[in-house]
Amino acid sequence: MKEYICECPGCQQTGVIALTTTYLGTVIPTDTKRYCVDHCEVEETRANEYGFLAKRTHVTPIEGMPCTFHVGSDRYPGTVLSVSKSGKTILVQRRSFKAAAGHDYFGSQKWEIGELEGAAVWYTLRRNGRWSQKGQPMKYSNLGLGYARVYQDPHF
Ligand SMILES: [Zn+2]
Repeated sequence: MKEYICECPGCQQTGVIALTTTYLGTVIPTDTKRYCVDHCEVEETRANEYGFLAKRTHVTPIEGMPCTFHVGSDRYPGTVLSVSKSGKTILVQRRSFKAAAGHDYFGSQKWEIGELEGAAVWYTLRRNGRWSQKGQPMKYSNLGLGYARVYQDPHF
């Protein structure tokens, strides 16, 4: 697997997320750069502020990378514990979370992510380019890589 270095100046971390930016209505060409987890978030926010469409077009899993389990409209945070040599099988585990200061269940939800908890689970990369729990059909793709989010739908 090809290794990239984060394109943020001075950063020596691995460029694990490919961020593709497009500016609609001008001649600025579509651009793809590789960033570490932290800088991807920063660049994504900046791109949006300047009116670019920013899309994470590829994520290479690495040990310690944040991840998110999508369950219906809910989101649960987790971490990648290990990655197979091929990069196509990963072991992931959920993290605990609790309401943070300023949390509003029906408005702006604010969560604090805590320790690893529960059973570690294997996920495999499928031919649709998404991650599914090992042994489960491809249609049950529910893992997001490169970010950890919490959201609880107040309508259920
Ligand atoms: Zn970086």
